Amino acid sequence: MNSNTQISNRPKANSAKASNVKTAITVSYGDGIGPEIMEATLRILDAAGAQLDIDTIEVGEKVYTSGVTTGISDSAWDTVRKNKIFFKGPITTPQGGGYKSLNVTLRKTLGLYANVRPCNSYYPFVDTRHPDMDVVIIRENEEDLYAGIEHRQTDEVVQCLKLITRPGCERIIRYAFEYAKNQGRKKVTCMTKDNIMKQTDGLFHQVFREIAPQYPDIQSEHLIVDIGTALVADSPERFDVVVMPNLYGDIVSDVTSQISGSVGLGGSANIGSSCSMFEAIHGSAPDIAGKDIANPSGLIQAAVMMLNHIGQFNVAETVQNAWLRTLEQGVHTGDIYRKSQSKKRVGTREFADAVIANLGVQPEFMSPANFQGFQAITLPEYTRRAASKKELKGVDVFVDWRGQDPDDLAAKLQVIENPALKLSMITNRGVKVWPNGFDETFCTDHWRCRYSASKDVQVRKGDIIEVLQKAVLSNVDIIKTENLYEFDGVRGYSLGQGQ
Ligand code: NAD
Repeated sequence: MNSNTQISNRPKANSAKASNVKTAITVSYGDGIGPEIMEATLRILDAAGAQLDIDTIEVGEKVYTSGVTTGISDSAWDTVRKNKIFFKGPITTPQGGGYKSLNVTLRKTLGLYANVRPCNSYYPFVDTRHPDMDVVIIRENEEDLYAGIEHRQTDEVVQCLKLITRPGCERIIRYAFEYAKNQGRKKVTCMTKDNIMKQTDGLFHQVFREIAPQYPDIQSEHLIVDIGTALVADSPERFDVVVMPNLYGDIVSDVTSQISGSVGLGGSANIGSSCSMFEAIHGSAPDIAGKDIANPSGLIQAAVMMLNHIGQFNVAETVQNAWLRTLEQGVHTGDIYRKSQSKKRVGTREFADAVIANLGVQPEFMSPANFQGFQAITLPEYTRRAASKKELKGVDVFVDWRGQDPDDLAAKLQVIENPALKLSMITNRGVKVWPNGFDETFCTDHWRCRYSASKDVQVRKGDIIEVLQKAVLSNVDIIKTENLYEFDGVRGYSLGQGQ
């Protein structure tokens, strides 16, 4: 059982080891159960002697409903950027209404590229079917579908852009291996869906393949994310460090946190090269807010990661050991309370009191925390590769059309071909429907019409513009275009399903 739940790429400015040097941090209490669990956690930190200089800010629901659609005011931004360390309670993102998730905004704006989520078993003190689990999920935190670039394109079709970048992949995958090396872990597993998304997830997997051999002492493996998630849920003990693109990491880390005993147990660190943010994995749990029953453990674990990050290792150990001892004593909040294992069902405040009473006490059964001497993770600067030879090979023209027979659409589109660009394929929802489509394929009003380069012709942007101008004159309703490129002779676009 590993109780070392910290990350360690703290910035130099915050690496003071002396326990009497105060570190300035920003705190927001958050929404729902946020104020209760934050109050409980800060009491524990204070009693443990954490040297913190706290600036409190308001973010989240109140700010959203006051009309600030980002959920954070300019002055709160100033505080977060000044202190660089942000300890954040969970917040509620209002549904609809044009509100953007503040969590995503904070992660992306502050460049918090790595989301580190350790999930341990505390069996037999906390009930779980997985007594030996000790997994760290390292989730890419800025890219993927969380770029939040969405468009409604036709009456029937909306789209979300999935952005994966080489620097983003290199940074998170190297971070995962460095983390494994630092923490004496043995294996890094990468999960993607690159059998389907060959360009985006394909790049993530490709970068994993490139970086893994640079760490010969660490085992590496790749799993397709669907079976990978099933295996995590079924036998988490086979995993050690798992690195994933943003969306998969979000889902899988909730799974691992829940199966360790409760989603209320997990803390998370969001690490960037200058700022970092620490929070519980779970959300604001409005269903139990204000009842003094929420488990503050997720936030306590986040606090332990933060203390390690700012170099207050001794305080982090004191808090972690007291927390472990409290779990061992069977003093449990409702989410982990089981008659068979627990001794006392407590609320948020009473749980914090029990942890405070245990400060200075070591766990008797679980391994005591040992956070001394972990090295800071420093990643090399990203080096951009030499530019590839990029050749324009055609264009995908997306058309809003309410007809049903793709032959009719093809006839309209062939009229506007030019010598450089010929209509080669039409797909609907990615499935080839022309030429030689199947009657069985369901078609909506969103058609991807591919114009490919004629043999031995070098396509110019002007050729594309000519097609588009003719399309406008022919009343073809173009929604958008995507240029088709080869990079050093390698196709940089997907084929149609069935092509
Ligand atoms: P949630 O994590 O808030 O709650 C899921 C379930 O777990 C609920 O039944 C809840 O009662 C329980 N739970 C969560 N934390 C607990 C704790 N500490 N102790 C005991 N039980 C706990 O997820 P949700 O209901 O999907 O989301 C609620 C709100 O939180 C939404 O507005 C969502 O956008 C937001 N959210 C915020 C964050 C964040 O601030 N980092 C993360 C996830 C969700």
